Amino acid sequence: MPAPPPIYLDNQATTRCDPRVLERMLPYFSEHYGNAASKTHSFGWTAEAAVALAREQVAASLGGNASEVVFCSGATEANNLALRGVAEAYAARGKHIVVAATEHASVLDCARELERTGWDLSIVPVGEDGLVSIPELRAALRETTTVVSIMLVNNETGVVADIPSLAALVHQECPKAIMHCDAVQALGKIPIDVAALGVDVLTVSSHKVYGPKGVGALWRRRRPRLVVHPQVFGGGHEGGLRSGTLPVPLIVGFGTACEIAGRERSEENARLALLRDRLLDGLRSSVGGIVVNGSIESRIASNLNIAIEGVTADVLVSEIGDVAMSTGSACSSASAKPSHVLGAMVSAERARTSIRMGLGRFTTEEEVERAIVCIAAGIAKVRGA
Ligand code: PMP
Repeated sequence: MPAPPPIYLDNQATTRCDPRVLERMLPYFSEHYGNAASKTHSFGWTAEAAVALAREQVAASLGGNASEVVFCSGATEANNLALRGVAEAYAARGKHIVVAATEHASVLDCARELERTGWDLSIVPVGEDGLVSIPELRAALRETTTVVSIMLVNNETGVVADIPSLAALVHQECPKAIMHCDAVQALGKIPIDVAALGVDVLTVSSHKVYGPKGVGALWRRRRPRLVVHPQVFGGGHEGGLRSGTLPVPLIVGFGTACEIAGRERSEENARLALLRDRLLDGLRSSVGGIVVNGSIESRIASNLNIAIEGVTADVLVSEIGDVAMSTGSACSSASAKPSHVLGAMVSAERARTSIRMGLGRFTTEEEVERAIVCIAAGIAKVRGA
């Protein structure tokens, strides 16, 4: 009998492109290959119309306006554009930036780069639940604070921040400050409404929401108009904010992925919450010493991040080849450093014994049952070794 296929439980690292998304993308690789910036023929017009529709779809998924959306290569670029672009535009107001300790590397490293060029940087700590508290944020704000960046959903723990309250505090204490939010892990998982969040600029990425890799977007408020200095110069695409020929098939895919997520999110979440709870219960009833990292109440439905007593996560993951999951953040595993997110929340020992499991649209009940057996057996083996 052939071996069962591996089980993918790493949907926070990336998701499979939905076949419906791929289907809509394909014609834009073949017959509709025009450049969306070509104004003189139908090839260009067709591409431009497809981009316009996708822009509407992405904007709708954020509660924003299409004219506020700037396409770029992904959220790493969008975060760089947001932080550096806003910092450059508003430096005269004061050169102090505030970020949370659990931000993605594309925010943290960008903030450190600003620090290198003369900005003051404050990194706000989080509690054991992974959340930034109002008093901690208030303590970090100064008269010179110009940029604040706090993510909506954490990529390792799935914890959901109370951005409306945090943004309200920022705007109340520092009326001139610009509030940025990395909403990459929130898109398609919880409703996003830029007005209700109270943010000025926000980033999203396609490949976390069953769209293709290599495309993302920056949303920035138009009324009153937020100025963002471009970081890539050239032909003046995207209103001069991000030059470069638009990757039309990827943008079409991103738009479609947003549209599907908007339609299916509630039902999908209900299913994933049941699977996630079953995964936790199954593991707990098979092996002891499991603790959930981060708030369980304020968390997306599809994430489970657990510490397993006495089990080094790297050893466990290499033991369980059949289940794809991660220790710390796969997004930064190129650097193979311990997770800075868990490091900010729990003890080094607990971080060392933690694994992240991310369920997704294509995760089945059968896979969850099989994963429980595989992971429990791996834990028993590592503990017995
Ligand atoms: N922010 C968060 C919270 C993420 O999870 C990721 C992806 N790991 C990024 C930013 C970067 O996104 P991209 O892969 O599109 O560059």
